[in-house]
Amino acid sequence: MGGKKQRAVLDGFRVLCAFLVVAIHTSPLLSVSETADFVLTRVFARVAVPFFFVLTGYFMAPHLEASDRDYRNRFLKKIAAVYGLSMLLYLPLNLYSGYFGEGFSGGKVVLDILFGGTFYHLWYLPAVLFGVWFVWLLVEKAGFKRAFFCSAILYLIGLFGDSYYGLASEIPAVKALYDGIFSISEYTRNGLFFAPIFLLTGAGCVREEKVAFGKGVAGSAVLLALMTGEGLTLYFLGLQRHDSMYILLIPLVYLLFQTLRALDGCGRKAFRDISLLIYVLHPWFIVLVRGAAKVLKITPFFVENSLIHYLAVCAATFFASIFFYGLAEYGKTSGKIARISGKERPGVKSRAWVEIEGEAIRHNMEEIRRLLPERTGILGVLKADAYGHGAVKTARILEAAGAEGYAVACLSEAVALRKAGIKGEILILGWTDPKEAGCLARYRLTQTVVDAVYARMLSHRGIPLKVHVKIDTGMHRLGVSNEAYEEITKIFRCRNLKIEGIFSHLCVSDTRKKEDLAYTETQIQRYFDLVGRLKRDGYPVGRTHIQASYGILNYPNLNCDLARPGLILYGIKSDSQDVLYDPDLKPALALKARVALVRDLEPGERAGYGRVFCAKDFRRLGVVTIGYGDGVPRNYAEAGGEVLLKGSRAPIVGRICMDQLLVDVTEIPGVKAGDTAVLIGKDGNGQITCEEMAEKCGTITNEILSRLGNRLLRIYVEK
Ligand SMILES: *Cc1c(COP(=O)(O)O)cnc(C)c1O
Repeated sequence: MGGKKQRAVLDGFRVLCAFLVVAIHTSPLLSVSETADFVLTRVFARVAVPFFFVLTGYFMAPHLEASDRDYRNRFLKKIAAVYGLSMLLYLPLNLYSGYFGEGFSGGKVVLDILFGGTFYHLWYLPAVLFGVWFVWLLVEKAGFKRAFFCSAILYLIGLFGDSYYGLASEIPAVKALYDGIFSISEYTRNGLFFAPIFLLTGAGCVREEKVAFGKGVAGSAVLLALMTGEGLTLYFLGLQRHDSMYILLIPLVYLLFQTLRALDGCGRKAFRDISLLIYVLHPWFIVLVRGAAKVLKITPFFVENSLIHYLAVCAATFFASIFFYGLAEYGKTSGKIARISGKERPGVKSRAWVEIEGEAIRHNMEEIRRLLPERTGILGVLKADAYGHGAVKTARILEAAGAEGYAVACLSEAVALRKAGIKGEILILGWTDPKEAGCLARYRLTQTVVDAVYARMLSHRGIPLKVHVKIDTGMHRLGVSNEAYEEITKIFRCRNLKIEGIFSHLCVSDTRKKEDLAYTETQIQRYFDLVGRLKRDGYPVGRTHIQASYGILNYPNLNCDLARPGLILYGIKSDSQDVLYDPDLKPALALKARVALVRDLEPGERAGYGRVFCAKDFRRLGVVTIGYGDGVPRNYAEAGGEVLLKGSRAPIVGRICMDQLLVDVTEIPGVKAGDTAVLIGKDGNGQITCEEMAEKCGTITNEILSRLGNRLLRIYVEK
């Protein structure tokens, strides 16, 4: 994708933008014409900061999609550090300018730190901090589209507190509203009203087509001219309270960005750091240049001519920035081990990946809800990284779709969810070492009591814990036998166990064979008999649950407090057996990889390990970048496995390798290196379902999904 080169152009433009910001603060054309200066600094230069936000959003996009909070936190930490240092750097100027004099209060400092910045240009850093945090929250809670819509509304609100304020202030109630806002933040140009729309524009650019250079430049010029018209109109009508937000700013910055993105060029990554340094340092140089001119008695020439003043400030800031940048780089590389920048990450679609459609999961959730009684809540089963769908992201989708809580297999899965910020009940379905009681408590997890002995051991740790009691009604895996009534009541007397639920698991609910139906009925009967008896004897059993996916499809009317669907949440059934209710499930996951190269085999030539594939006649093979190390079953080739290329099926041939496999593309014209091969999912009119792959390999979909390798990157697509 040539990511590096593109970045160089984009980052080069960043430096230009930094100089535009210096212009805003020095008014270079003021000694020529006030209007010309207005156009340059209050219209043209207003592109600069939004462009920074768009870039931030653009580079953040893949991490945002994957809900990679680590990335976000690292980014926020870095900006917070820059902000902290900048505040210190400007303390002397704060002192000098009387910031701590009249009107100074602790409350004002806090508001400044949060919104306005403690020095006039520093507002940008809290705006990035808040904006990025806020945009993540929006996207995680509501999805990209709604987040975008919401930030557009916020921008609109901001607009009427900025350059369109004259209109808003006509209406007393609206004016009062804005006065309220301004008592907290001096401007609406901040992390709430201003930054989000540009961050999301940048994030959205990733999916959009680039714009051809000529067209883009022409379009941008037209938009810039129109925005100049917008700015001048507002200026002459006297409507502006401040002048950093225009309606046309959004399309202009978008088009400009898309145009530059399409350019290949050369430049340096250093530009990014240097532009930030210019941004942070320039107010100091405005002061220093003025001071120096005074001392040298050249003020008339140096300061009163606004253009020369501007150029002097730019030059001084630029050299200082290069100097500090060089110093920092020297510091980094002069250590024993040169640190390699870890910023270059592989693109998500650069080898093999999984695509997940959040909408499908939401849809399946609705379908499941329709089958179940009104009162039955859903405990979304997220074990094995949500059956390969990514546990954290899936949890967020389920949370937004109204899940009651989540279930996982083990402690580490539960802790990972909590660490990612997932709230709500998390039930661990499997065994956890009682020694981990502290960990269970710290992360507020709910543990399954696997039998009576376990209950006593857990309680003996002396730490109050939330638990659900597992009842064995005939599967004979985990649980206390439903017949061991005395044992069960003893669990209720364990001092440190707070029993919040009681559940069982069905072992043949997935078939409709006569004896299996009878067995399941017996299991259900045993469970409800036990629960009834406990209740009659006054034991607070907490919430009841017994159905997993097939329990829901074959026995939906059980009237429990909760159900525990896993597989069907993801839109998949284990195999093609009949079920009583067959809801319209949508598979959420697609598995894709790329074609590394295409090669021709002459008749009689062989390919792959063991040379098992033999070309009977002329054959064209594609090498696909996925293998059993990614979870494709090794026996899939012999089992008649296929992939979709250009919407058609290409058979897998030879032996599947750990990282690659071969497909026969002789019958599909035009296949070339870089093409996308679909192993599970749709492509044109073709579709390969997970059920098909599982059936061919003699297993169930659950196994295929849970074994998807963790070097597959995940993309979440919203339609
Ligand atoms: C895995 C599991 C589930 C979910 O099973 P599905 O068939 O995927 O719905 C529910 N309950 C327990 C105890 C499980 O282990």
